[in-house]
Amino acid sequence: MPDKRQLDLELSPGINSLAELAKAEHECTRCPLYKDATQAVPGEGRKSAHVMLVGEQPGDKEDLTGKPFVGPAGRVLDRALADAGIPRSEVFVTNAVKHFKHEMRGKRRLHKRPNAYEIERCKIWLETERALVKPVAIVALGATAARSLLGRAVTIAKVRGQTLRLADGTAAFVTIHPSWLLRMEDEADKEREYKNFVADLRPAAKVLSSSHKSRNAA
Ligand code: SF4
Repeated sequence: MPDKRQLDLELSPGINSLAELAKAEHECTRCPLYKDATQAVPGEGRKSAHVMLVGEQPGDKEDLTGKPFVGPAGRVLDRALADAGIPRSEVFVTNAVKHFKHEMRGKRRLHKRPNAYEIERCKIWLETERALVKPVAIVALGATAARSLLGRAVTIAKVRGQTLRLADGTAAFVTIHPSWLLRMEDEADKEREYKNFVADLRPAAKVLSSSHKSRNAA
C-alpha cells in the first residue's frame, strides 16, 4: 500500500480544506444538475481517513439533508460496513456526482443515472476530495464511481474482488452500489448478494486495521 505522504494529487486552485471544497460544490454550475437539485452533497467523514467510499450520486433523502448515504441505501451500507468490521466514523464517504439527478413521476423524484458528461464534469470535486483526504484505498460503490475513478467504463462482475491501482498508486476495490440490493425482489438472492457485498468490503477493513497498527507503532 502506498504511504499517504507519497500521494501527489493536485488541489483545485483556491481550495485548501474540505469546508472550502463544500462551498465550491454548493456554488458549482459545471453541469446542469445543480438546476433541479436542492443542494450539493459534499463528502463527509474522517478528515484524514485511510479509506474512502465513493457512491454514485445523492438520492432523494441526501438531496434534502445535504448529507451522503443517509437514505435507504445508506442504511444497507451502514449494516454492511458494520458486518465487514469497518466503523463508518473511520472512513470518508462521498459520491462521484454531487447533485441529485432525477425525474418526476407524479410527486415522486426518481433517481436517474448520471451520464458520462456529468461524471466527467464533477470529477474535479472527487479528485479534490482525494487530494485533501489522501486515502490509501478507495472503494468504488457501483459503475458510476468506478468510471469516475478509473476513467473508463468497467463491468463490475469482471473487476470485483481485485485490487486495482489508480494512476497515482491508490488501491481501488470495485463492488456494487448498495441500492442494487434494495431493488432485488428475491430474498435468497438478496441475502447472497449482501454477503458478497460485505466480502468486497473486507479488503478495505484490512487497510484500516493495518493503518491502525502502524499508527499505534509510531
Ligand atoms: S453535479 Fe457536480 S459538476 Fe454538476 S453542477 Fe453539481 S457539483 Fe457541479
